[in-house]
Amino acid sequence: MLTTLKAASGPGPAAGTDPRVAETVARVIADVRAGGDEAVRRHSRAFDSWAPDSFRLGPDRVAAIVSALPETVLDDLRFAQRQVRDFARAQRDSITDFEVETLPGVVLGQRSLPVEASGAYVPGGRYPLTASAHMTVLTAKVAGVERVAATTPPLGDGPPPISVAAMHLAGADEIYVLGGVQAVAALALGTETIDPVHLITGPGNAYVAEAKRQLFGEVGIDLFAGPTETLVVADETADPFLVAVDLLSQAEHGPDSPAVLITTSEEVGRRVLAHIEELLPGLPTGPVAGAAWRDHGEVHVTADLDAAYTLADTYASEHVQILTAEPRAALERMRHYGALFLGEGTCVPYGDKVIGTNHVLPTRGAARYTGGLWVGKFLRTVTYQEVRDPASSAYLGEICGRTSRLENFEGHARSGDLRSAKFGERTLTW
Ligand code: NAD
Repeated sequence: MLTTLKAASGPGPAAGTDPRVAETVARVIADVRAGGDEAVRRHSRAFDSWAPDSFRLGPDRVAAIVSALPETVLDDLRFAQRQVRDFARAQRDSITDFEVETLPGVVLGQRSLPVEASGAYVPGGRYPLTASAHMTVLTAKVAGVERVAATTPPLGDGPPPISVAAMHLAGADEIYVLGGVQAVAALALGTETIDPVHLITGPGNAYVAEAKRQLFGEVGIDLFAGPTETLVVADETADPFLVAVDLLSQAEHGPDSPAVLITTSEEVGRRVLAHIEELLPGLPTGPVAGAAWRDHGEVHVTADLDAAYTLADTYASEHVQILTAEPRAALERMRHYGALFLGEGTCVPYGDKVIGTNHVLPTRGAARYTGGLWVGKFLRTVTYQEVRDPASSAYLGEICGRTSRLENFEGHARSGDLRSAKFGERTLTW
């Protein structure tokens, strides 16, 4: 039994890219590919009214911006970055290179090598999403990336000071004030003044996410991290006021941000709906959060928690908050999510800003096939092999020769034949 107290009126989270967004993105990428810096400047002027002589901030400018910020702001940034660094280091330590001997003298190995140059997109069209610098720059540095080029859109008519400070404290090697598709394209393709990177990470609006998608292949990307989504699973013990506040905390990201409640209690559902209507007029970001809630807000009531978890899994939401009597049960029960927030002691904004897990997370159902950004996304898992025992090489050569001929690969077969002759008994007949 499923009762819907509020349905979304806009497209659901798994809807494909809006064709108008895809078209704009393709046009800007083609322009940057053909026109380099001149095209970047033209689009930055058009979309962001921003066309400085240089998009890159030199070290003196960065130092001036950072030193003008109050010490408490810098302390808060340092705190958040310590949390992110500690968790990222634990992730790094969990990844180990190894070798295994699968036959006598046959050694197979695996190593994790950092990407050499990565681009960190720190969003900022609507709000300066400072914490994205911790997630993209710092995590890359913990992974061992040598060159991190970080970029963020202008705020008003200049650099966003807190994001610039966060990029700097996180260890960015280059800092650009440039946003949107033109920034992603410049980092991916390179221009006369911006060297290309090998991997682009970071969240962004629909244009930024689509730019990464279209450029994937020419450059690596972390994942599809588009407009924020949140989903709450609540039972009858949940505090409806807290649920309402938490749903709006994510709806304020943008008018395209889905916020979904799945509850086993119709009363909780109805009270959350009422609290949201009470809270919206007093929320400074109410117009954005209200539009998101109107078009993408949903409240469903299920017969029991099992049905609630099953339904929640079908959304594969970026954030899933569990507000039940036994929140840890969700660890065993839920399969599709970017990050889980267990119990009322934590909330999605902790994950966004301060707690230390990475906030760059899969959206639009991408949680069905990937987790979020982590140290491992900056590492290339490579393998190697060596055969130290001649008899093993001769043995492998026999099998390689036979299987290659089944596929009509005579050249492959001869590489195997040669080794079974050189290290074993075989006589070459070709
Ligand atoms: P943004 O930096 O992603 O985008 C701003 C840029 O978009 C501007 O610089 C501009 O160049 C470009 N742009 C705006 N309108 C355009 C248009 N009509 N055509 C072409 N380009 C255009 O900042 P934002 O807009 O504030 O969005 C940030 C997004 O990041 C939000 O949607 C938020 O939900 C999302 N987010 C996602 C995650 C995640 O992990 N999935 C985490 C944090 C934030």
